[in-house]
Amino acid sequence: MRQTAKAPRENRTITVDFHDESTYFQLIRDGKAFVEFVLAFILSLGFQLNHKATCSGGGCLTRHSHYARLRLGGLTIWRIQCTKCKAVFTVLPHFVLRYRKMRPDVAQNALLATHGGLSLELCAVIGHISPMALYRLVCALGQQSLVAVLTRCALPLPVYILADEKHSHCLTDKVYLPTIVSGRVIWHLSYSDSKSAAAFTQSYGVFQQAALDQEPSYRVKGALTDGFDSTTKSMRTLFPGARLGNCLRHAINKLPDKLVGLAAPLRQGLRSKFHTLLHRCRTRTSLRVVALGQSLRRFADHITATVGEDQGERVQKWFGDKKSGWYAVLEDPQMPAMSTVLDQAHNAIDRKLFAMKYFHHPDGSQAAFLTGLAHLYNLIPYQRRAKNADRCGVEVEGGRVPTSDWMLNLQILTSGGYRGGPEPLNH
Ligand SMILES: [Zn+2]
Repeated sequence: MRQTAKAPRENRTITVDFHDESTYFQLIRDGKAFVEFVLAFILSLGFQLNHKATCSGGGCLTRHSHYARLRLGGLTIWRIQCTKCKAVFTVLPHFVLRYRKMRPDVAQNALLATHGGLSLELCAVIGHISPMALYRLVCALGQQSLVAVLTRCALPLPVYILADEKHSHCLTDKVYLPTIVSGRVIWHLSYSDSKSAAAFTQSYGVFQQAALDQEPSYRVKGALTDGFDSTTKSMRTLFPGARLGNCLRHAINKLPDKLVGLAAPLRQGLRSKFHTLLHRCRTRTSLRVVALGQSLRRFADHITATVGEDQGERVQKWFGDKKSGWYAVLEDPQMPAMSTVLDQAHNAIDRKLFAMKYFHHPDGSQAAFLTGLAHLYNLIPYQRRAKNADRCGVEVEGGRVPTSDWMLNLQILTSGGYRGGPEPLNH
């Protein structure tokens, strides 16, 4: 199975909200009014059209041609063309999904159920569609990169990131999902069947390249990992100047493993003492690194004194290996300290990867499927009773979404014909 999505032909489809179907059928009879409506809609989003690279902009848009798509039940669709660069944009009304017979309201229910953790088969049964149709829909959404979609939402590229790989299973193979998260948003989610540093560097490199395409001066200032060797190495290779930190929660969970042969209550007691220690250092306003250095030394002495020299030495050695990563977290107040949100994201995604295992086929793309799932994760609002209820991850992080309807947002934002960004493109 292919691991990366095939580079799609330049897709300049744009989804436009015509509010209701009758408005659309009225407008398609009047070319001038149609183009004006479309332009007003694009303006209201604050988007640009994705012209050809050579276009200096300023060209007028004209109605290009029209054609009927039989697959869409004979629906007439207009294309508009830039008079300067001749780029042709296909205008899809909001009530149609690109290349799909499925209606958006049916897709919306099936995607929501998928996002909620139901298997693809059950989701498909609910919507009276085939599981394969749902799988392909998610893959189609995943054709647009996470970086492209998130920057269209006016989110700045993340300067501090959490990078971690989920270890998972696909059929009988062990697989890895290298992931980059910032706050509540997934910026990168991919798939690797190797855990080598080279494989991870290649995966995270896809994110880096997408980010550099958006902003050539993009730099990562800090990255938090769980200390997995390949992840750390790939971060060092791709972001040489970045501060690399080790997750503090990971440290807390790992401590009991270092206390070999101790009774569980004793280990738990020391774990909570270690937790308090890290928390105290983190919440200090100054000299955090110095304080941590002193506290670690004192803590190792305490272990030696209470449970023996062997234990003390082992913990001391572990501190020695890890402390530079913990110092890195405390050196910069903007560094993320724990990977809790990323773990939640991984657990949510893992269930779907598991659900996907029945859908291995030669045309499939795990990368596209995972990217599609990550779009759902970023754009579907949290449940009513949750914290940040009715807002999606993108909004919680300060991003803008085009409309109050998440399905419509998904359609608009994953259209290939838009560019984000408030400043006009070369105009
Ligand atoms: Zn143009």
